[in-house]
Amino acid sequence: MKKDLDWSSLGFGYIATDYRYSSKFKDGAWDEGQLITDSMITLSECAGVFQYAQTIFEGLKAYSTKDGHIVCFRPDLNAARMADSAKRLEMPVFPEDRFIDAVCQVVKANQDWVPPYGSGATLYIRPYMMGTNPVIGVKPANEYEFRVFATPVGPYFKGGAKPIVIKVSDFDRAAPHGTGHIKAGLNYAMSLHAIVTAHEEGFAENMYLDPESRTKVEETGGANFIFITKDGTLVTPKSDSILPSITRRSIMYVAEHYLGMKVEHRPVYFDEVKDFAECGLCGTAAVISPVGRIVNHDTVIDIPAGMEEMGPVTKKLYDTLTGIQMGSIEAPEGWIKKIC
Ligand SMILES: *Cc1c(COP(=O)(O)O)cnc(C)c1O
Repeated sequence: MKKDLDWSSLGFGYIATDYRYSSKFKDGAWDEGQLITDSMITLSECAGVFQYAQTIFEGLKAYSTKDGHIVCFRPDLNAARMADSAKRLEMPVFPEDRFIDAVCQVVKANQDWVPPYGSGATLYIRPYMMGTNPVIGVKPANEYEFRVFATPVGPYFKGGAKPIVIKVSDFDRAAPHGTGHIKAGLNYAMSLHAIVTAHEEGFAENMYLDPESRTKVEETGGANFIFITKDGTLVTPKSDSILPSITRRSIMYVAEHYLGMKVEHRPVYFDEVKDFAECGLCGTAAVISPVGRIVNHDTVIDIPAGMEEMGPVTKKLYDTLTGIQMGSIEAPEGWIKKIC
């Protein structure tokens, strides 16, 4: 039986669900892994995760479809990206097929927590991995734990589809070690001061520029940018130091193959931003959140689509993508993993 939650008023917060998955890596091998009920983790004070931030994560969602199934969206891409993150931080790769299996096990075991179709809420799934044994000299840990938990969530930004106001951050987004393209806690730790500063000044998010020249648009703390030109082309920044968003890659495909749009994936200069008709942030958590205004000190760029609602092209992309995710629009081959 579904849990007794007020699904449509959920925010983006943590609610402990009944089951999570754990697998441990020791002596060069992963154990079998299992579902467990304990949400707490007890580790050495000297664990690699605490001392040298050796930790990575992923984020994906499970959806209730129109016809009563529970599915998740392109988990193979999360598995592959987590493998890339692991390699960059000298962590063992959790096998990609086992990653997908662990996600499915956690969703299935927590199916009473999956928000119903049409509620606007979804089950957010958080796979993550950390170095667990004591490490004091600077080197990678040799024992790890891979975990997956799930928590029901509502919209990432308060107000849902209302456009947000963001600022151009004076800070660089990521740790300056070429790690911007991986999903790791260290990048988020480095962005916390910037996000707190932006919030204090009344902005919902930051637009980070490339740290080298500060002329090119990178991304926000947890979402990629999409722009729509006045003649309806989708433009999205290309950079080695932004996270390869699965939502953004899916939107590029949907724009081209479902909506017949022209798509450009290329460096985007901040100077161009004033000429775009629509702007949005895209990621698993935000889906597509429209941006209405971008402030860079004394310069204010008002996006023509305005502050009232999503621009028309962004809305079409949003409706098509969420239609595919929730089963009302046929998905490209291999995009939807049916769980139960
Ligand atoms: C997770 C994340 C995104 C969004 O990626 P999705 O795969 O679409 O969820 C964008 N930027 C950063 C920095 C991220 O960590």
